Amino acid sequence: MKELLAKLTGAFGPAGREEWVRALLLEELKQMGSPDSIVDDLGNLVVSRGNPENKIILVAAHMDQVGFMVTFIEENGFLRVTPVGGIEAKSLPGMRLRFRDGITGVIGQEKIKEQKELDFSKLYVDIGAVSLKGAQQQIQVGDTAVFDAPLMMEGNRYIAGAMDDRAGCAVLLETLRRLPRDLPQSVCFVFTVQEEVGLRGAQAVSYRINPHFGLAVDVTRTGDTPEPQFKTPVSLGKGPAIKIRDSSVICHPRVTALMRQVAEDKNIPHQLEVLEQGGTDAGAIHLSRAGVPSGALSIPCRYIHTPGEMVDHNDLENSVSFLLALLQTKW
Ligand SMILES: [Zn+2]
Repeated sequence: MKELLAKLTGAFGPAGREEWVRALLLEELKQMGSPDSIVDDLGNLVVSRGNPENKIILVAAHMDQVGFMVTFIEENGFLRVTPVGGIEAKSLPGMRLRFRDGITGVIGQEKIKEQKELDFSKLYVDIGAVSLKGAQQQIQVGDTAVFDAPLMMEGNRYIAGAMDDRAGCAVLLETLRRLPRDLPQSVCFVFTVQEEVGLRGAQAVSYRINPHFGLAVDVTRTGDTPEPQFKTPVSLGKGPAIKIRDSSVICHPRVTALMRQVAEDKNIPHQLEVLEQGGTDAGAIHLSRAGVPSGALSIPCRYIHTPGEMVDHNDLENSVSFLLALLQTKW
């Protein structure tokens, strides 16, 4: 798992530029003897298992990560950027960014009177250029960057900038590797694009697949740190969470009941999740066509949308066991 996670979190993939993550996934699929995938016109990667004449479960994890897009280059070579996905300006000064071709930038901040004035208009990115022309030789308006935060392991915990949702991609891939051929229903594993900017890839691919059920595999916030901003009973290391609700979806009771039953029957440690802010691909899947009963398997993660996204090794292993058990159960 560590090696796979290191590769996946190290791949460059802000929303809209998922091609390097997709290439890596395609390579992994090829190595496991599974070249039978399709890439749709938006870039979603779909891998199908089981008899397509049976009911279909769409299982989605998003390839994209939050990042930054260059909006303007100043005369003196400093870059202005806008967030791609939900990133708070107040946590950014001093952080390192990485552009696709390896260029590093540091985020700086203009003088402000009060901390609450800090927004993206007061931030700039320094790539070491001393003029507009110098900067333009390396970077163009519209180029994107991500946090420069490769994978580290401390104790039983993994830390990386793109854990949201490469952890989910790793769980899908590992499940695919271990899933038997004979299944009670058909499963479409989808690695989606542009989740972080509004569940866009999932919306389009759900229409194509026309599933009977939907399941997103994504990270969720925990409440187990000192004085957390949001109270939630989800903790790191206590197992995958069964989503009940977030801002994008109220999970279908049939799906959540099935998930709880399977977790209990198979003795898989699990938790229940009600997320007050944030959404996931299940939000788009459940509204596709005439509606799709959907749920989500959430991987507990601290410090979401920062370079320090942290997940627990056992939670990942238990997420794979849980997904394997769910997909071998008749829905
Ligand atoms: Zn996510």
